[in-house]
Amino acid sequence: MNITAIYPGTFDPVTNGHLDIIARAARLYHKVIVAVAVNSNKTPLFDIAQRVELLEQVSTEFTNVVIIGFDNLLVDCAREQGANVVLRGLRAISDFEYEFQLAGMNRRLSPELETMFLTPAEQYEFISSSMIKEIARLGGDVSEFVPDNVLQRLIEKFNRG
Ligand code: ADP
Repeated sequence: MNITAIYPGTFDPVTNGHLDIIARAARLYHKVIVAVAVNSNKTPLFDIAQRVELLEQVSTEFTNVVIIGFDNLLVDCAREQGANVVLRGLRAISDFEYEFQLAGMNRRLSPELETMFLTPAEQYEFISSSMIKEIARLGGDVSEFVPDNVLQRLIEKFNRG
């Protein structure tokens, strides 16, 4: 059976933790669709086009990975894309409760869609996009935690004020 995984998230911005999950997924699944949520609830630091572009730049080495933006229900987007697995990254116990609820709700909405979890290498376990933004905003060095293209964009953003 051909397995296509959809990996949804905000990716504002993509971090080395997300990239670790994408690399693992690219080895496991036939196709991986990284689905960037427009997420109208919060104002993102990077708009949807920029988040997609940054992800495209860092995933060129993976021939079976594609990046899309989406603003509809995840289960509908998965169906349109022909995905049979929803992939999520799990960092620590703190992620578990929300992820468990999300997986349960998605199963109710679309019973044939399975949710699968991957954990990152331990050096990425504590990285979150929100913490990266906060550190960068306050002038801290985030070069260990994000790919170079993201680092450049963060520097440009926060140096301009
Ligand atoms: P969301 O806003 O939906 O949490 P994110 O962009 O933060 O989306 O993350 C997308 C997915 O990647 C989520 O499943 C999240 O748990 C996972 N993720 C985020 N950071 C990491 C990390 N450092 N290591 C592994 N998975 C991560």
